[in-house]
Amino acid sequence: MKVNDRYSRQILFAEIGEEGQKRLLNSRALIIGCGALGAAQAESLARAGVGKLWIADRDFIEFSNLQRQTMFTEKDAADRLPKAIACANHVREINSEIEIEAKVTDVNHSNIEQLIDDCDVVLDGTDNFATRYLINDACAKNNVSWIYGAAVGSYGVTMTIRPNETPCLRCIFPETPPAASALTCDTSGVIMPIISTVVAVQVTEALKLLTHHTDQLHNSLMQFDVWRNEWRRLALGKPTAGCPTCQLRQFEALKSESSEFAAVLCGRHAVQISPSRPTSVDLAALRRKLEAVGRVKTNDYLLRFSAGAYELTVFQDARSIIRGTDDVATARSLYAKYVGN
Ligand SMILES: [Zn+2]
Repeated sequence: MKVNDRYSRQILFAEIGEEGQKRLLNSRALIIGCGALGAAQAESLARAGVGKLWIADRDFIEFSNLQRQTMFTEKDAADRLPKAIACANHVREINSEIEIEAKVTDVNHSNIEQLIDDCDVVLDGTDNFATRYLINDACAKNNVSWIYGAAVGSYGVTMTIRPNETPCLRCIFPETPPAASALTCDTSGVIMPIISTVVAVQVTEALKLLTHHTDQLHNSLMQFDVWRNEWRRLALGKPTAGCPTCQLRQFEALKSESSEFAAVLCGRHAVQISPSRPTSVDLAALRRKLEAVGRVKTNDYLLRFSAGAYELTVFQDARSIIRGTDDVATARSLYAKYVGN
């Protein structure tokens, strides 16, 4: 791949230059979660010329996403495209010279180490602390840098974590912070400008890491409130003695759970059910079976089935997002009834 005029303004930026641009083109970044944060990260990294971009997300696009998930269109929502697929499609139109791979999957203990293998940096585009602790464990274990980011309301926070160099997420937040558990997207909205603010810092940190300017990293827990006009930086000290992740290397989040995973989805009135083992489902055959009992729609990636007050979206990897309930038991029984095991 040759360095061409596309990146000329970035190359003129002395800290990047020709050398930095070559490094970017030879880098691989993984974005976990492709909602508001992740899609904006993907666009920026693609425009900057990060040579290999992997985008992992478990969900599909809905109309309520369009207010802040700036990459997606009404057509994406009408087509119910998986976010990773729609994001990859748009990013390919932005930069056809880089490699982009969409992973329509629930990132969990069974696949995260494979996903981060050979990655130069991981960007957090998730909306929950369980996945962030998983990323933290996997990155600490495999010595990969990652960039935490979160936004709720008009508040945002970000921190860059380098194994053996900085505190890890667990050093700073030994448990899910009360603010993150109380302020879910159920009870508080979010405005788009804070997404842009957090992503701007996350992507700049990624560019510094990938061009080997680690001395320029902000090295803090950086917090913003764009509505209340507050900007704060808490300098990072040393890793916390006895931190179970980066000091004791216990990696609890990477240990397997025996049964199928069920997860209540943030602000969605929905539950995700995943099969216990990697598998796949024949969507055409499932469609024929379900057409006998209700209304079914499909695209190349998923099947959507309405059953009374519930709606099941089934992906090729046999995962299902069941809308209309926050109750795991109800979701499990609907899954067993219509999708089977
Ligand atoms: Zn730690």
